[in-house]
Amino acid sequence: RAKRNDSGFMLFNSSMDSHTKMQLQLESELRVALAEHQFELYYQAKVATASEQIVGCEALIRWHHPTKGLIEPDKFLEVLESIGLILPVGAWSLREVCEQMRQWREQGLPVQRVGVNLSMRQFLQPDLLVLIDQVLVETQIPADLLELEITESVAMSNANLTIDTLIALKQRGIYISIDDFGTGYSSLSYLKRFPIDAVKIDRSFIQDLEHESDDAAAIVTATIRLAHAMNLSVVAEGVENALQRDFLMKYGCDVLQGYYYSKPVSADEFATMLMRGHYH
Ligand code: C2E
Ligand code: CA
Ligand code: CA
Ligand code: CA
Repeated sequence: RAKRNDSGFMLFNSSMDSHTKMQLQLESELRVALAEHQFELYYQAKVATASEQIVGCEALIRWHHPTKGLIEPDKFLEVLESIGLILPVGAWSLREVCEQMRQWREQGLPVQRVGVNLSMRQFLQPDLLVLIDQVLVETQIPADLLELEITESVAMSNANLTIDTLIALKQRGIYISIDDFGTGYSSLSYLKRFPIDAVKIDRSFIQDLEHESDDAAAIVTATIRLAHAMNLSVVAEGVENALQRDFLMKYGCDVLQGYYYSKPVSADEFATMLMRGHYH
């Protein structure tokens, strides 16, 4: 096992396997990344299905590694979570999104709602509301421009706590989406207990539409129907082609997000889209 010496540096032991060494290396690089501002948020447009106009976006974290280039979150989020760094990084994301909205508003851009992903730990953290209130006051961003995306599995992990937190967020006017919908075990009727605004149908179902999967089509259409019956907006993520778009349009999905419209882009590129009012 690794030991720390007095100054806190890791002492590598030659018998340590290379996987452990790589893990420790990654951990220490992630601490540096936070301290040295190597994280950046990218923004992916969400468009209204009927008009194909931008109605908002989702912020997605990237890591500018000093030698390896741009790294996507699947490669480091789990490690951030396991070493407890997800809380400071998550707080950074929230603040950065609101600060970015503040700048866009100052530049006179027509800013719409921006979604931030919340990790399990972040959502369960008692100080979450304090942080959000602080950030909203600091940046003077109206709460209804902020969207929080919480995965279905996080929401379901402790339903009573979730309801309390969601009520407090809703009271502030924050928009709430259930992410990766359909991958957990909750039924939509159970979700009825949650004061939420939208569900995001998981990319895997949207991908399967392309392969003419009857199951995926049935899940997608049933989700849209039931969500609408509960007055929830429905977002499809991972829309990559016109076939998927046409299907989702036909069944009344409200909002589309995916490479078909735009990949996640830098804040400057997204500002250009906002200025043009279009995702090109
Ligand atoms: P997610 O919230 O489900 O985000 C959607 C993911 O799908 C993003 O991956 C996005 O780049 C990707 N995507 C969007 N459109 C398409 C498409 O048409 N086709 C395909 N194949 N993929 C598409 P990304 O950026 O790698 O993020 C992965 C996950 O990392 C996110 O999944 C989210 O759970 C998490 N994440 C990202 N940023 C943050 C953050 O700031 N905080 C936290 N806690 N989690 C984050
Ligand atoms: Ca998301
Ligand atoms: Ca997802
Ligand atoms: Ca996901």
